[in-house]
Amino acid sequence: MQCIRCGEKAVYHSPYSGHNFCAKCFLKSVDHRVKTTINKYKLFDAKDRILIAISGGKDSQVLATILAKIEKKFPDVALMALLIDEGVPGYRDFGVRRSKELCEELGIPLTVTSFKELFGYSLPEIASIAERKRVMLGACTFCGILRRRAMNIEAKELNATKVATGHNLDDEAQTVLMNLLRGDALRLLRLGPKPVEELPGFVPRVKPLRYVPEKEVTLYAYFKGYPLYEVECPYVRTSMRDEIRFILNEMEKRHPGIKYAIVRAADKLSTMSTSFKVRISTCRYCGEPTSRNICRACELLETLGVMG
Ligand SMILES: [Zn+2]
Ligand SMILES: [Zn+2]
Repeated sequence: MQCIRCGEKAVYHSPYSGHNFCAKCFLKSVDHRVKTTINKYKLFDAKDRILIAISGGKDSQVLATILAKIEKKFPDVALMALLIDEGVPGYRDFGVRRSKELCEELGIPLTVTSFKELFGYSLPEIASIAERKRVMLGACTFCGILRRRAMNIEAKELNATKVATGHNLDDEAQTVLMNLLRGDALRLLRLGPKPVEELPGFVPRVKPLRYVPEKEVTLYAYFKGYPLYEVECPYVRTSMRDEIRFILNEMEKRHPGIKYAIVRAADKLSTMSTSFKVRISTCRYCGEPTSRNICRACELLETLGVMG
């Protein structure tokens, strides 16, 4: 098996393109794909201040590495990273350590903050209050809502103009199917690589790894020699996402390229829906932008009786 680019011994066969790559050319091909996604969907401007959502997991390590490489060619672009600690004992320790190490290596300033610091409670504390008050929402739901809120607050604090997240092709294909199966048509239309329109008060979130399969992100980290420590969050439960992940992986084996096709379809839908406008007002409690009177984060904190 020979590398299609340089003729050296290949170590990876891409079932989707049918090409074989050596480690070096494989890394280049992923870099190239990310650059293509950024250019094609105009994810960044030449003067952006980009905040990378980092966790220390494989996705955010690879995202930071590739963006740092690209940034060298754009001296007016600033890169920063943000890590949000949910406060789950033992779970985030490796991620914090690894993020500090990698950001230092790449020359990216890192800000570390936590749910406790921002909302007064850690995720375990919020989860146990919810259980006591019989609020029937899983910890992952709280975590997602509060994480998005934390990200937006910190992004504005740091004067960031974009937030970049490490969602890969598998994450995105799962999300598209999940919204479809739940009948959430509006969200389905908003799943493109970047927001269809800029909404006041929201720092736009973009996903440069959107077209890189999870397997290739893992391989990229492996070839770079990055330490990986993928512990599952203790709050993770068998969710609909797990079922969908399983189905998609099974189908991808028989039909290479279906994950890509699903995400492409969502992108086309989101560009077709530019006429669709969201009305944005501000939350009457916290002043953050929301499409309703009270934002989801405040609604959640109010239900739990822990509003600051
Ligand atoms: Zn090669
Ligand atoms: Zn609010």
